[in-house]
Amino acid sequence: MPKPTLITELNAALGPRYVLHRPEELMLYEYDGSALDQATPEVVVVPSSTAEVAAVARIAQAHGLPLVARGAGTGLAGGSIADRGGIVVSLARMDRILSINPQERTAVVQPGVVNVELSERAAPFGLHFAPDPSSQKSSTVGGNAAANAGGPHCLKYGVTTNHVLAATLVLSDGSVVQLGGSAPDAPGYDLLGAVVGSEGTLGIVTELTVRLTANPEDVRTFLAIYDTMDGASSSVAAIIAAGIIPAALEMLVGRGITAVEESVRAGYPAGAAAVLLIELDGLHEELQVQQEQVVALCREHGASEVRVAADPVQRAKLWAGRKGALAACARIAPHYHIQDGVVPRSKLIEVLRQTEEIAARYHLIVVNIFHAGDGNLHPLLLFDMREPGVRARAIAAGEELLRACVAAGGTISGEHGIGLEKRDYIGWMFNADDLSAFADLRAVFDGAGLMNPCKLVPSGSSCADIRMAKGAQRALAAGAWV
Ligand SMILES: Cc1cc2nc3c(=O)[nH]c(=O)nc-3n(C[C@H](O)[C@H](O)[C@H](O)COP(=O)(O)OP(=O)(O)OC[C@H]3O[C@@H](n4cnc5c(N)ncnc54)[C@H](O)[C@@H]3O)c2cc1C
Repeated sequence: MPKPTLITELNAALGPRYVLHRPEELMLYEYDGSALDQATPEVVVVPSSTAEVAAVARIAQAHGLPLVARGAGTGLAGGSIADRGGIVVSLARMDRILSINPQERTAVVQPGVVNVELSERAAPFGLHFAPDPSSQKSSTVGGNAAANAGGPHCLKYGVTTNHVLAATLVLSDGSVVQLGGSAPDAPGYDLLGAVVGSEGTLGIVTELTVRLTANPEDVRTFLAIYDTMDGASSSVAAIIAAGIIPAALEMLVGRGITAVEESVRAGYPAGAAAVLLIELDGLHEELQVQQEQVVALCREHGASEVRVAADPVQRAKLWAGRKGALAACARIAPHYHIQDGVVPRSKLIEVLRQTEEIAARYHLIVVNIFHAGDGNLHPLLLFDMREPGVRARAIAAGEELLRACVAAGGTISGEHGIGLEKRDYIGWMFNADDLSAFADLRAVFDGAGLMNPCKLVPSGSSCADIRMAKGAQRALAAGAWV
């Protein structure tokens, strides 16, 4: 139970309607898009302005409580779960697009703006927001910036950090800082670069200036169908090696294709071993040549068929299949543990095989649907949490999958972030000196250690200082239904 004085102070700052503390209200904020972790915050607040977020930060600091920013809660690494209790700051009411400047190709937005809504509002100007996570119908621009989200079209256009020009940040002591500016590449230390991808551990972003990207003159979308995973993987390497950077180059393997087709009816060939969803965009003349090259390369590497989307409706259907893939896998099993490892493209096939071998050893189903162009694997371990012991098996298998990515010369996250789930694995990538430098950087922004504590870097002495809220780390009971 939160202290009555805490609630009184928050009520005075925000109004009682926007201070949630009853158990049935808090339940909605116990988890994010990852299935494995769950914890109850003491309070959830829903501020409407930078000033209100700053007021909440001052109150939190006075009470020594952690602050956990929350966008749409679609994160896949447990980043917005309040595992140390404290105050969850939902940015849901800060959802306005403040301005769009078509000349400068920029927009100023509040953090709670849903990704796809920004592109919809920019469309009349022939512009869009390029980072397009598959969660874009619900995830927020603030969450995208905090996680440095990627998406299918980030292969060509770059991940979120390449599209953020400026941010307003509330620090844990309630002060407000402006980072970056509306002109690109602000001089001085790149503090904005440090904040993008910091997963809410440095401060709470309350406003963003982002780049908008011109819509391409022409787009070509293909579905290349394969009888083997090897053919699809070698096509990926061959396309990039030929000097072609598609706007998107996605791969779906085996059971995932059938699940997508049954769920979305997008025109995917149920039963194929693998498919590549390839999109080229750019100038009309240039694409004609590239299209021929890509089709030839796919055939040379074993594609049995290459279908070309005939019109925008077919294109949209193919993308609906890819973007609905995670949800479609609920047809196979109700729970998932998704990994986000990256491997060099030349190692795709080797690591894909390992994902199948590891999953089989742990008696789990694995489905691979991923951003193949940049080697960003998303092995989706599927299971039913009601099965006794399955949670521990999924965690162990997930860890082995990431070790396989690192052993192949890759890394443990391409876009979902580290959050809670992978926090204890970050030491595989960084040594003690690196982690100490991370802690120093963090302390510059958050001397009190209250901003999303114990995420991103392993628990250390700074974490021990954080008061553990009673009942905050409510472990998931074996066999519980999430
Ligand atoms: C079906 C599905 C598909 C997905 N596809 C992709 C994909 O293709 N690419 C990809 O990169 N990710 C993907 N994700 C993961 C997720 O959608 C992204 O990480 C997204 O950027 C999270 O946004 P959110 O608004 O939901 O943030 P949340 O989940 O609420 O928060 C994510 C992290 O950001 C912090 N945070 C949120 N808002 C702020 C803020 N204003 N200030 C400071 N910190 C903040 C939180 O504390 C947390 O650490 C997918 C998720 C799902 C469920």
